Amino acid sequence: MIIIAHPDDAEGNCGGTTAKWVREGKIIHYLILTNGDKGSDDLSMTSEKLAEIREREQKAAAKVLGVSGMTFLRTPDGELEVSQPLRKEITRLIRLHQPAIVFTHDPWKPYQIHPDHRATGFLALDAIVAARDHLYYPEQVAQGLKPCRVRAVYLFGTDHSDFWVDISETLEVKLQAVRCHVSQGLTSQEVQERIRNRALEVGRAKGYLYGEAFKKIRM
Ligand SMILES: [Zn+2]
Repeated sequence: MIIIAHPDDAEGNCGGTTAKWVREGKIIHYLILTNGDKGSDDLSMTSEKLAEIREREQKAAAKVLGVSGMTFLRTPDGELEVSQPLRKEITRLIRLHQPAIVFTHDPWKPYQIHPDHRATGFLALDAIVAARDHLYYPEQVAQGLKPCRVRAVYLFGTDHSDFWVDISETLEVKLQAVRCHVSQGLTSQEVQERIRNRALEVGRAKGYLYGEAFKKIRM
């Protein structure tokens, strides 16, 4: 399961790993917490229209990578808070999908100014803890959901990488998925080169052509 703040956070951060793991037969589910309805510098754009566009772009990008399914919680962009109702809902979705592994934002990244990225990291981690014990939100268990013990969490956008994935075979499909986010300007040559160079830099340190890096937390 990949838990992200906005439509477009997954592809740039872990799209190469996603495509690779899909090829290895793993089932990937996206959980997108906000509707991304603020990210535009087009003054004629409305939040309603933008949310629709971004959901469409997210579906297209996920299809490119081979993601099996996705859930949109549609909280307004920029207004995500580490709250009990959201923790409870994310716990419910973790129990429903029973992921072995969760990817999310590193909430401790220094100078991480986007509040949604911080909040998503904390919400995901808090929900992972709650999901494993039946006495958290017991009404969910009474309704038939089983507790879920996530085995490992991979944080992206981190300054403390200790787990690397060789994405040499899937860098091109990652870039293709990133390009689906037209409204975010991710089709530009400059952005594409920046992502390629970052993958080169990460890969070089590990002897891969291209790589993605994460902080791994074993549970
Ligand atoms: Zn984001």
